[in-house]
Amino acid sequence: MRRPGITCTILVTFAAAVALLACQTDPADDVAIEGEPDAHHEESAEGHEIHWSYEGDTGPAMWGSLDPSFAACDDGVRQSPVDLTGAVAGGESELEIRWQPGDAEVVDNGHTIVVNVAEGSAISLEGREFALLQFHFHHPSEHTVEGSAAPIDIHFVHAAAEGDLAVIGVFLEAGEADPTIQSIWEAIPSAGESPGALAALDPGALLPEGGSHYRYPGSLTTPGCSEIVSWVVMTESIAVSQDQIDAFAALYPMNARPVQPLNERTIELRQ
Ligand SMILES: [Zn+2]
Repeated sequence: MRRPGITCTILVTFAAAVALLACQTDPADDVAIEGEPDAHHEESAEGHEIHWSYEGDTGPAMWGSLDPSFAACDDGVRQSPVDLTGAVAGGESELEIRWQPGDAEVVDNGHTIVVNVAEGSAISLEGREFALLQFHFHHPSEHTVEGSAAPIDIHFVHAAAEGDLAVIGVFLEAGEADPTIQSIWEAIPSAGESPGALAALDPGALLPEGGSHYRYPGSLTTPGCSEIVSWVVMTESIAVSQDQIDAFAALYPMNARPVQPLNERTIELRQ
């Protein structure tokens, strides 16, 4: 079900050009982009707010029944996250990451911490262009490998002009402290404060060195679970300190959707 009001409300929080493009091109249904600012209450087609969470009566097992626009959370056949075990060797990478440093703002939207980035960073995936809008965090990681989650993962959310998304996942493991993560954590606003500002934030500093990654077709991992996402999950992780993990866990003890059935999909491993 299309929700034009929400689509444009969401998109104006992103770079102006992206907003214009996306609002004009009639993006795919239910473009409630995960990690989007003010997404604590999704708005239904009728305009009322829908509370969802990671536990209890409004937790992941209930998402599909909270609102008709969340139906894909129950009925979908290519849902995310998944366990990435059993990936088969794919072809060439066909992934080119062209991110650049820029101003950013840090928002706590009630589901996660979101870093909205300046216009100008993009990727090319299988010859299609996707603009980087924002990235955000899950604790523990949503994707797993052989049943194991990392302490945290980052999802870098990109949108194509046609409205579909490409999300790059990066696992964060315990090790040395990461200065970029530190700068983001220090910019997290307290309740009621305006977004934290970061100058010259370099998202590329949060990429692991190797380019090998898992690839599969999936969905948003938050309601309405829209099946519009080309997933890229880097096989290598980056290190953050246990203190940095603990600092995020203090804000979000659990904000990961459980893994979903793979069904007929194949996970590819690209080098
Ligand atoms: Zn996410």
